[in-house]
Amino acid sequence: TTGDAAGLPAATPSGGFSPEAARKDVPILHRTVNGHPLVWLDNGATTQKPRQVIEAVSAYYSAANSNIHRGAHTMAREATELYEAGRAAVAQLLGAPSPDTIMFVRGTTEAINLVAQSWGRRHLGPGDEILVPVLEHHSNIVPWQLLADETRARVVPVPLTPDGAIDQDAYADLLSARTQLVVVSQASNVLGTVPPVREMAALAHRYDAKVLVDGAQAVAHMPVDVQDLGADFYAFSGHKLFAPTGIGALFATPEAMAAMRPWQGGGNMIDSVSFERTTFAPMPHMMEAGTGHISGVVGLLAAIDWLRGFDKEAVAAYERALMSYAQTALATVPGVEVIGSAAERIAVLTFTMAGHDPASVANWLDKDGIAVRAGHHCAQPALAHYGLESAARASLALYNTSGEVDQLVASLRRLEQAGP
Ligand code: PLP
Repeated sequence: TTGDAAGLPAATPSGGFSPEAARKDVPILHRTVNGHPLVWLDNGATTQKPRQVIEAVSAYYSAANSNIHRGAHTMAREATELYEAGRAAVAQLLGAPSPDTIMFVRGTTEAINLVAQSWGRRHLGPGDEILVPVLEHHSNIVPWQLLADETRARVVPVPLTPDGAIDQDAYADLLSARTQLVVVSQASNVLGTVPPVREMAALAHRYDAKVLVDGAQAVAHMPVDVQDLGADFYAFSGHKLFAPTGIGALFATPEAMAAMRPWQGGGNMIDSVSFERTTFAPMPHMMEAGTGHISGVVGLLAAIDWLRGFDKEAVAAYERALMSYAQTALATVPGVEVIGSAAERIAVLTFTMAGHDPASVANWLDKDGIAVRAGHHCAQPALAHYGLESAARASLALYNTSGEVDQLVASLRRLEQAGP
């Protein structure tokens, strides 16, 4: 039942979306863990898959498996059409101007490394600067450090305010003619912060810097429009969007694409090969060496189709209501402290509990069938900002309910009563 455990009212139901409509499609949400119905609150790490995605992948292998772009037989053509339909669906999801601006990659991490290697290596030199907010995931820090080592450019951290927002004054001060690239997550995986990306991008462009937006945590929780954001590059992972692991996408503007060189060589990315002179396929294929994750694209296409069945604004409104319900409910548990309080945020609640280390909190919850993550969340600098090395994190998605939040709170209360 809703609201009883925490003694709080249920989240205000928002028009047009009920979590049950999503839940009924996701088989794993109906399993038990340690004798309890699963409460999946680890969506920041990965999301669960609707049967539409599972069945699309299965149907692909049962009836349509073929390599693409090669061979003129019927199934190669069909697989190619599916792959390109996936590209078009991603373009539409992101508000990109055309499918040709979308490159398939393994995920956000690979997308960012691709930009570092194929664009960054050519464009950065000694003294150039890459601005990286302290909030970023390691996958949006380390590739830039590796690139800076190679090119003798500099990675410049952009500090946070105490509430976990990117310090916009500091950001404006750090921008200069040396800035070649600004990177920023559209939503933080550790504090949920949603920075003013559009304004940050507009400012960066005044200095002719490029802007890379990490959309890993954003795509499943808010409508995205890369053109409105002013992103030169936009990266996301399918598995955080109810699609399979191992597939993701990178958007780049045609202008940014024109300045990229191949980062991996092999089949599919060439026009013709000879020992005298090899020429490359046009973008985006130039960035897709080797056989791609075709079934992953099929799953991603199915996930995007599945999401199209829901009203995006209504889903975002539901998640906001659920998040504020969860924030209020968590605050009633003695000793629990939620980290970061930026006004604009997605439903990521990272918290500590006095007298209990985060790993033991996660273990306790797991015994009740509740999955949360404990650790540094691949964002050590962001946690260090709060003097922490580790924290527990509950991250919500459209299929979570206020009843599940109540179960989280009830379990934490039992832990608090059991004592350290
Ligand atoms: N960026 C953010 C904000 C993330 O939350 C994650 C995953 O947790 C990543 C990047 C990396 O995504 P992946 O491991 O799918 O490449």
